[in-house]
Amino acid sequence: GQLSYDLYGDVPRRPPVPRPLRIAILTREPKNYSSLRLKAAAEARGHVAEMINTARVTMAINTLAPAVYYDGRKLPRYDAVIPRIGASMTNYGMAVLRQFEMTGAYILNSASAIGASRDKLYAHQLLARAGIGMPTTAFAHSPKDTRNLIEHVGGAPLVVKLLESTQGRGVVLAETRKAAESVIDAFRGLDANFIVQEFVKEAGGADIRCFVIGGKVVAAMKRQAQAGEFRSNLHRGGEAAPVRITRDERSAAIKAARAMGLAVAGVDLLRSETGPKVLEVNSSPGLEGIEATSKKDVAGLIIEHLETHVRTVSARPARR
Ligand code: ADP
Repeated sequence: GQLSYDLYGDVPRRPPVPRPLRIAILTREPKNYSSLRLKAAAEARGHVAEMINTARVTMAINTLAPAVYYDGRKLPRYDAVIPRIGASMTNYGMAVLRQFEMTGAYILNSASAIGASRDKLYAHQLLARAGIGMPTTAFAHSPKDTRNLIEHVGGAPLVVKLLESTQGRGVVLAETRKAAESVIDAFRGLDANFIVQEFVKEAGGADIRCFVIGGKVVAAMKRQAQAGEFRSNLHRGGEAAPVRITRDERSAAIKAARAMGLAVAGVDLLRSETGPKVLEVNSSPGLEGIEATSKKDVAGLIIEHLETHVRTVSARPARR
């Protein structure tokens, strides 16, 4: 159906793209909600969308004409590629994306932007450089000096995070200095990569997911942790609800996506006494929770973004 644009009344509506696009959705999970919604949204707008399983792609790097092969067959040229690359395929997925880039396709989120957002240390550095609020964070690779790390973030309580953490699994709250020392020493003993972070207590076990497309926040939801839990991950029993974000939150989310170079991003932030603090910028944000909570056609907005960019970026010179 028609989308509502009341939120962005100041944005000029561009006419729809004059031709159907050939879109590839790069994913290992063609049956998951986000992949299916993107395909359906593309088809609903008259485009052709194909699921390409990242793991089944082969590339011929040494040819003059860059090509991408799928189960041994050369793929057609796509106008646009939507990467939905999971953490396990980051490196290979980025190589595949670069290959598609070379074929002239418009890549929704570039390989380098995905790489930046997936590298937690680099991502934190980019956010800091862009002047975006975030919890005070100290990095460590098997650090010798546990005490300094704790001082860097202002002492306990603090949060220790394994860099490989997903769904809150490697995120630990140390309430006292003793506990912090024990956790840090334990991680160090495992030769793990981790960060130490100021605990933003006033966030109250909630975080805000802002869904950014093309420099605008198109939807937002608040995730609230279960009682007695500070991690709001839905996989840990957190509950999502619609939320109105402040102007500062909107601006932090937009800046964070821009700092990574991501056209589409899920920006997670905490509400702190000193304003929004960005936790993470996700380059393949899921659509299910945000669409259900916000009741917005986020998949359709992503396709609309593609339409305008394919047109401006790959407008070919007129034939003579
Ligand atoms: P993961 O990537 O494994 O989900 P996060 O860094 O997103 O790890 O942390 C999981 C959850 O823990 C967040 O969604 C948030 O609710 C909570 N959390 C993380 N860091 C902090 C912090 N510094 N202060 C307060 N709560 C935090």
